[in-house]
Amino acid sequence: MLSYWEKSTVASHCDIMIIGGGLTGLLSAFHASRKFPKRRIRIIERGPFPFGASTRNAGFACFGSPSEIYEDLQVDGEELTLQRVEQRYRGLQFYLQNFAPKSFDFRMTGGWEIFQSSETEVFDNLNDKLEYLNHILNPIVGDSTYQTDSSTSRFGMDVLPHSFLNKHEGQLHPAKLCILIEKALRERGVEFINGIEITAIETVPHVVAIDTSGVKWTAEACIVATNGLTKQLLPEENIYPARGQVLMTSEIPNLKLEGTFHLDRGYWYFRNVGKRVLLGGGRHLDVMGERTSDRVTSEKIQSELEHILRSTLLPDSSFDIDYRWAGTMAFGAENEKTPRIEALSDNLILAARLGGMGVAMAPIVAEMAIEKLS
Ligand SMILES: Cc1cc2nc3c(=O)[nH]c(=O)nc-3n(C[C@H](O)[C@H](O)[C@H](O)COP(=O)(O)OP(=O)(O)OC[C@H]3O[C@@H](n4cnc5c(N)ncnc54)[C@H](O)[C@@H]3O)c2cc1C
Repeated sequence: MLSYWEKSTVASHCDIMIIGGGLTGLLSAFHASRKFPKRRIRIIERGPFPFGASTRNAGFACFGSPSEIYEDLQVDGEELTLQRVEQRYRGLQFYLQNFAPKSFDFRMTGGWEIFQSSETEVFDNLNDKLEYLNHILNPIVGDSTYQTDSSTSRFGMDVLPHSFLNKHEGQLHPAKLCILIEKALRERGVEFINGIEITAIETVPHVVAIDTSGVKWTAEACIVATNGLTKQLLPEENIYPARGQVLMTSEIPNLKLEGTFHLDRGYWYFRNVGKRVLLGGGRHLDVMGERTSDRVTSEKIQSELEHILRSTLLPDSSFDIDYRWAGTMAFGAENEKTPRIEALSDNLILAARLGGMGVAMAPIVAEMAIEKLS
């Protein structure tokens, strides 16, 4: 039970409570503090720092490779696909407009979609679609997004020499980004409560969020920004955890890779981090097994990651694996990746299910969630 002193200060009633302190939660506070500068805003986060995907991702500043976009067009149609691309593109612009790019290691390196030696036909088919893709993306990017690059061999990989380059794609340091946003929020008086996990929410007449020890946190309104862990709080929602795994090499002195790279429709993705290489993906190999919020890595995916790295991506380099980690993304049961931004009641807003490009998506998802608050 809270003491009187706690209940009358750090745990007293607030105006806007945000559950989840990842990028969506942080940016919801960012937009809320702009829209409602006088309101008292509090972020409740279960971890000592953002403990979901936002500090455990790959740090791609991306909005979709040609094959991902083309596949999305088949599944979701043009309107929905372009809406998501626009949200991602605008989201990335938001970071660049509000924070100094250097302060979160942002670099516009360019991003390549590459193809295995056996995928000539896949490349050719997609090459035929490139003009169409550039045409439909033009109103968003205002430029030709993708171009063919026939000198992929310079990266030293065992892949086709042809690839697609998106010069608008880049790299960032996701944890530095979270820390920057948090700093800006503290300056605006946003309150942070860390190490508290909410297990239930009631909404009448105001919002009551109950934590694991039974303490009731109350607010006039609440944003649920729990992404891959949303089901624990809102079991009816079509939001499922999706574990994403990565590994990172030791430093490779003569590394030729520089930029962000997508392989096999984005199921594998890799980038350099200085002289290291970060490689992630492989969830498609065990979609149901990876439908978990468990943060440990699995032997099955990690060994496949390492195999691709050593055989195809860095066949001529020697290196160790220095890091392996996993984080939790969120998709729908049928792999839906359109975010759920929904007023579940007058005072409870859901902002979750950000899919695999949620760093880019979070600023706009958060903005749309706050637009629902009056
Ligand atoms: C391995 C991996 C690689 C990725 N790579 C990229 C990439 O390169 N580019 C890109 O754009 N996106 C990438 N993503 C996706 C991106 O990281 C996420 O979509 C994005 O971070 C989602 O942000 P979020 O704030 O909505 O969710 P999260 O960052 O998961 O934040 C949710 C927060 O809620 C907290 N929480 C949950 N439940 C509770 C509760 N009951 N009580 C209190 N707190 C709670 C969690 O601790 C967490 O901090 C990747 C994800 C993974 C896992």
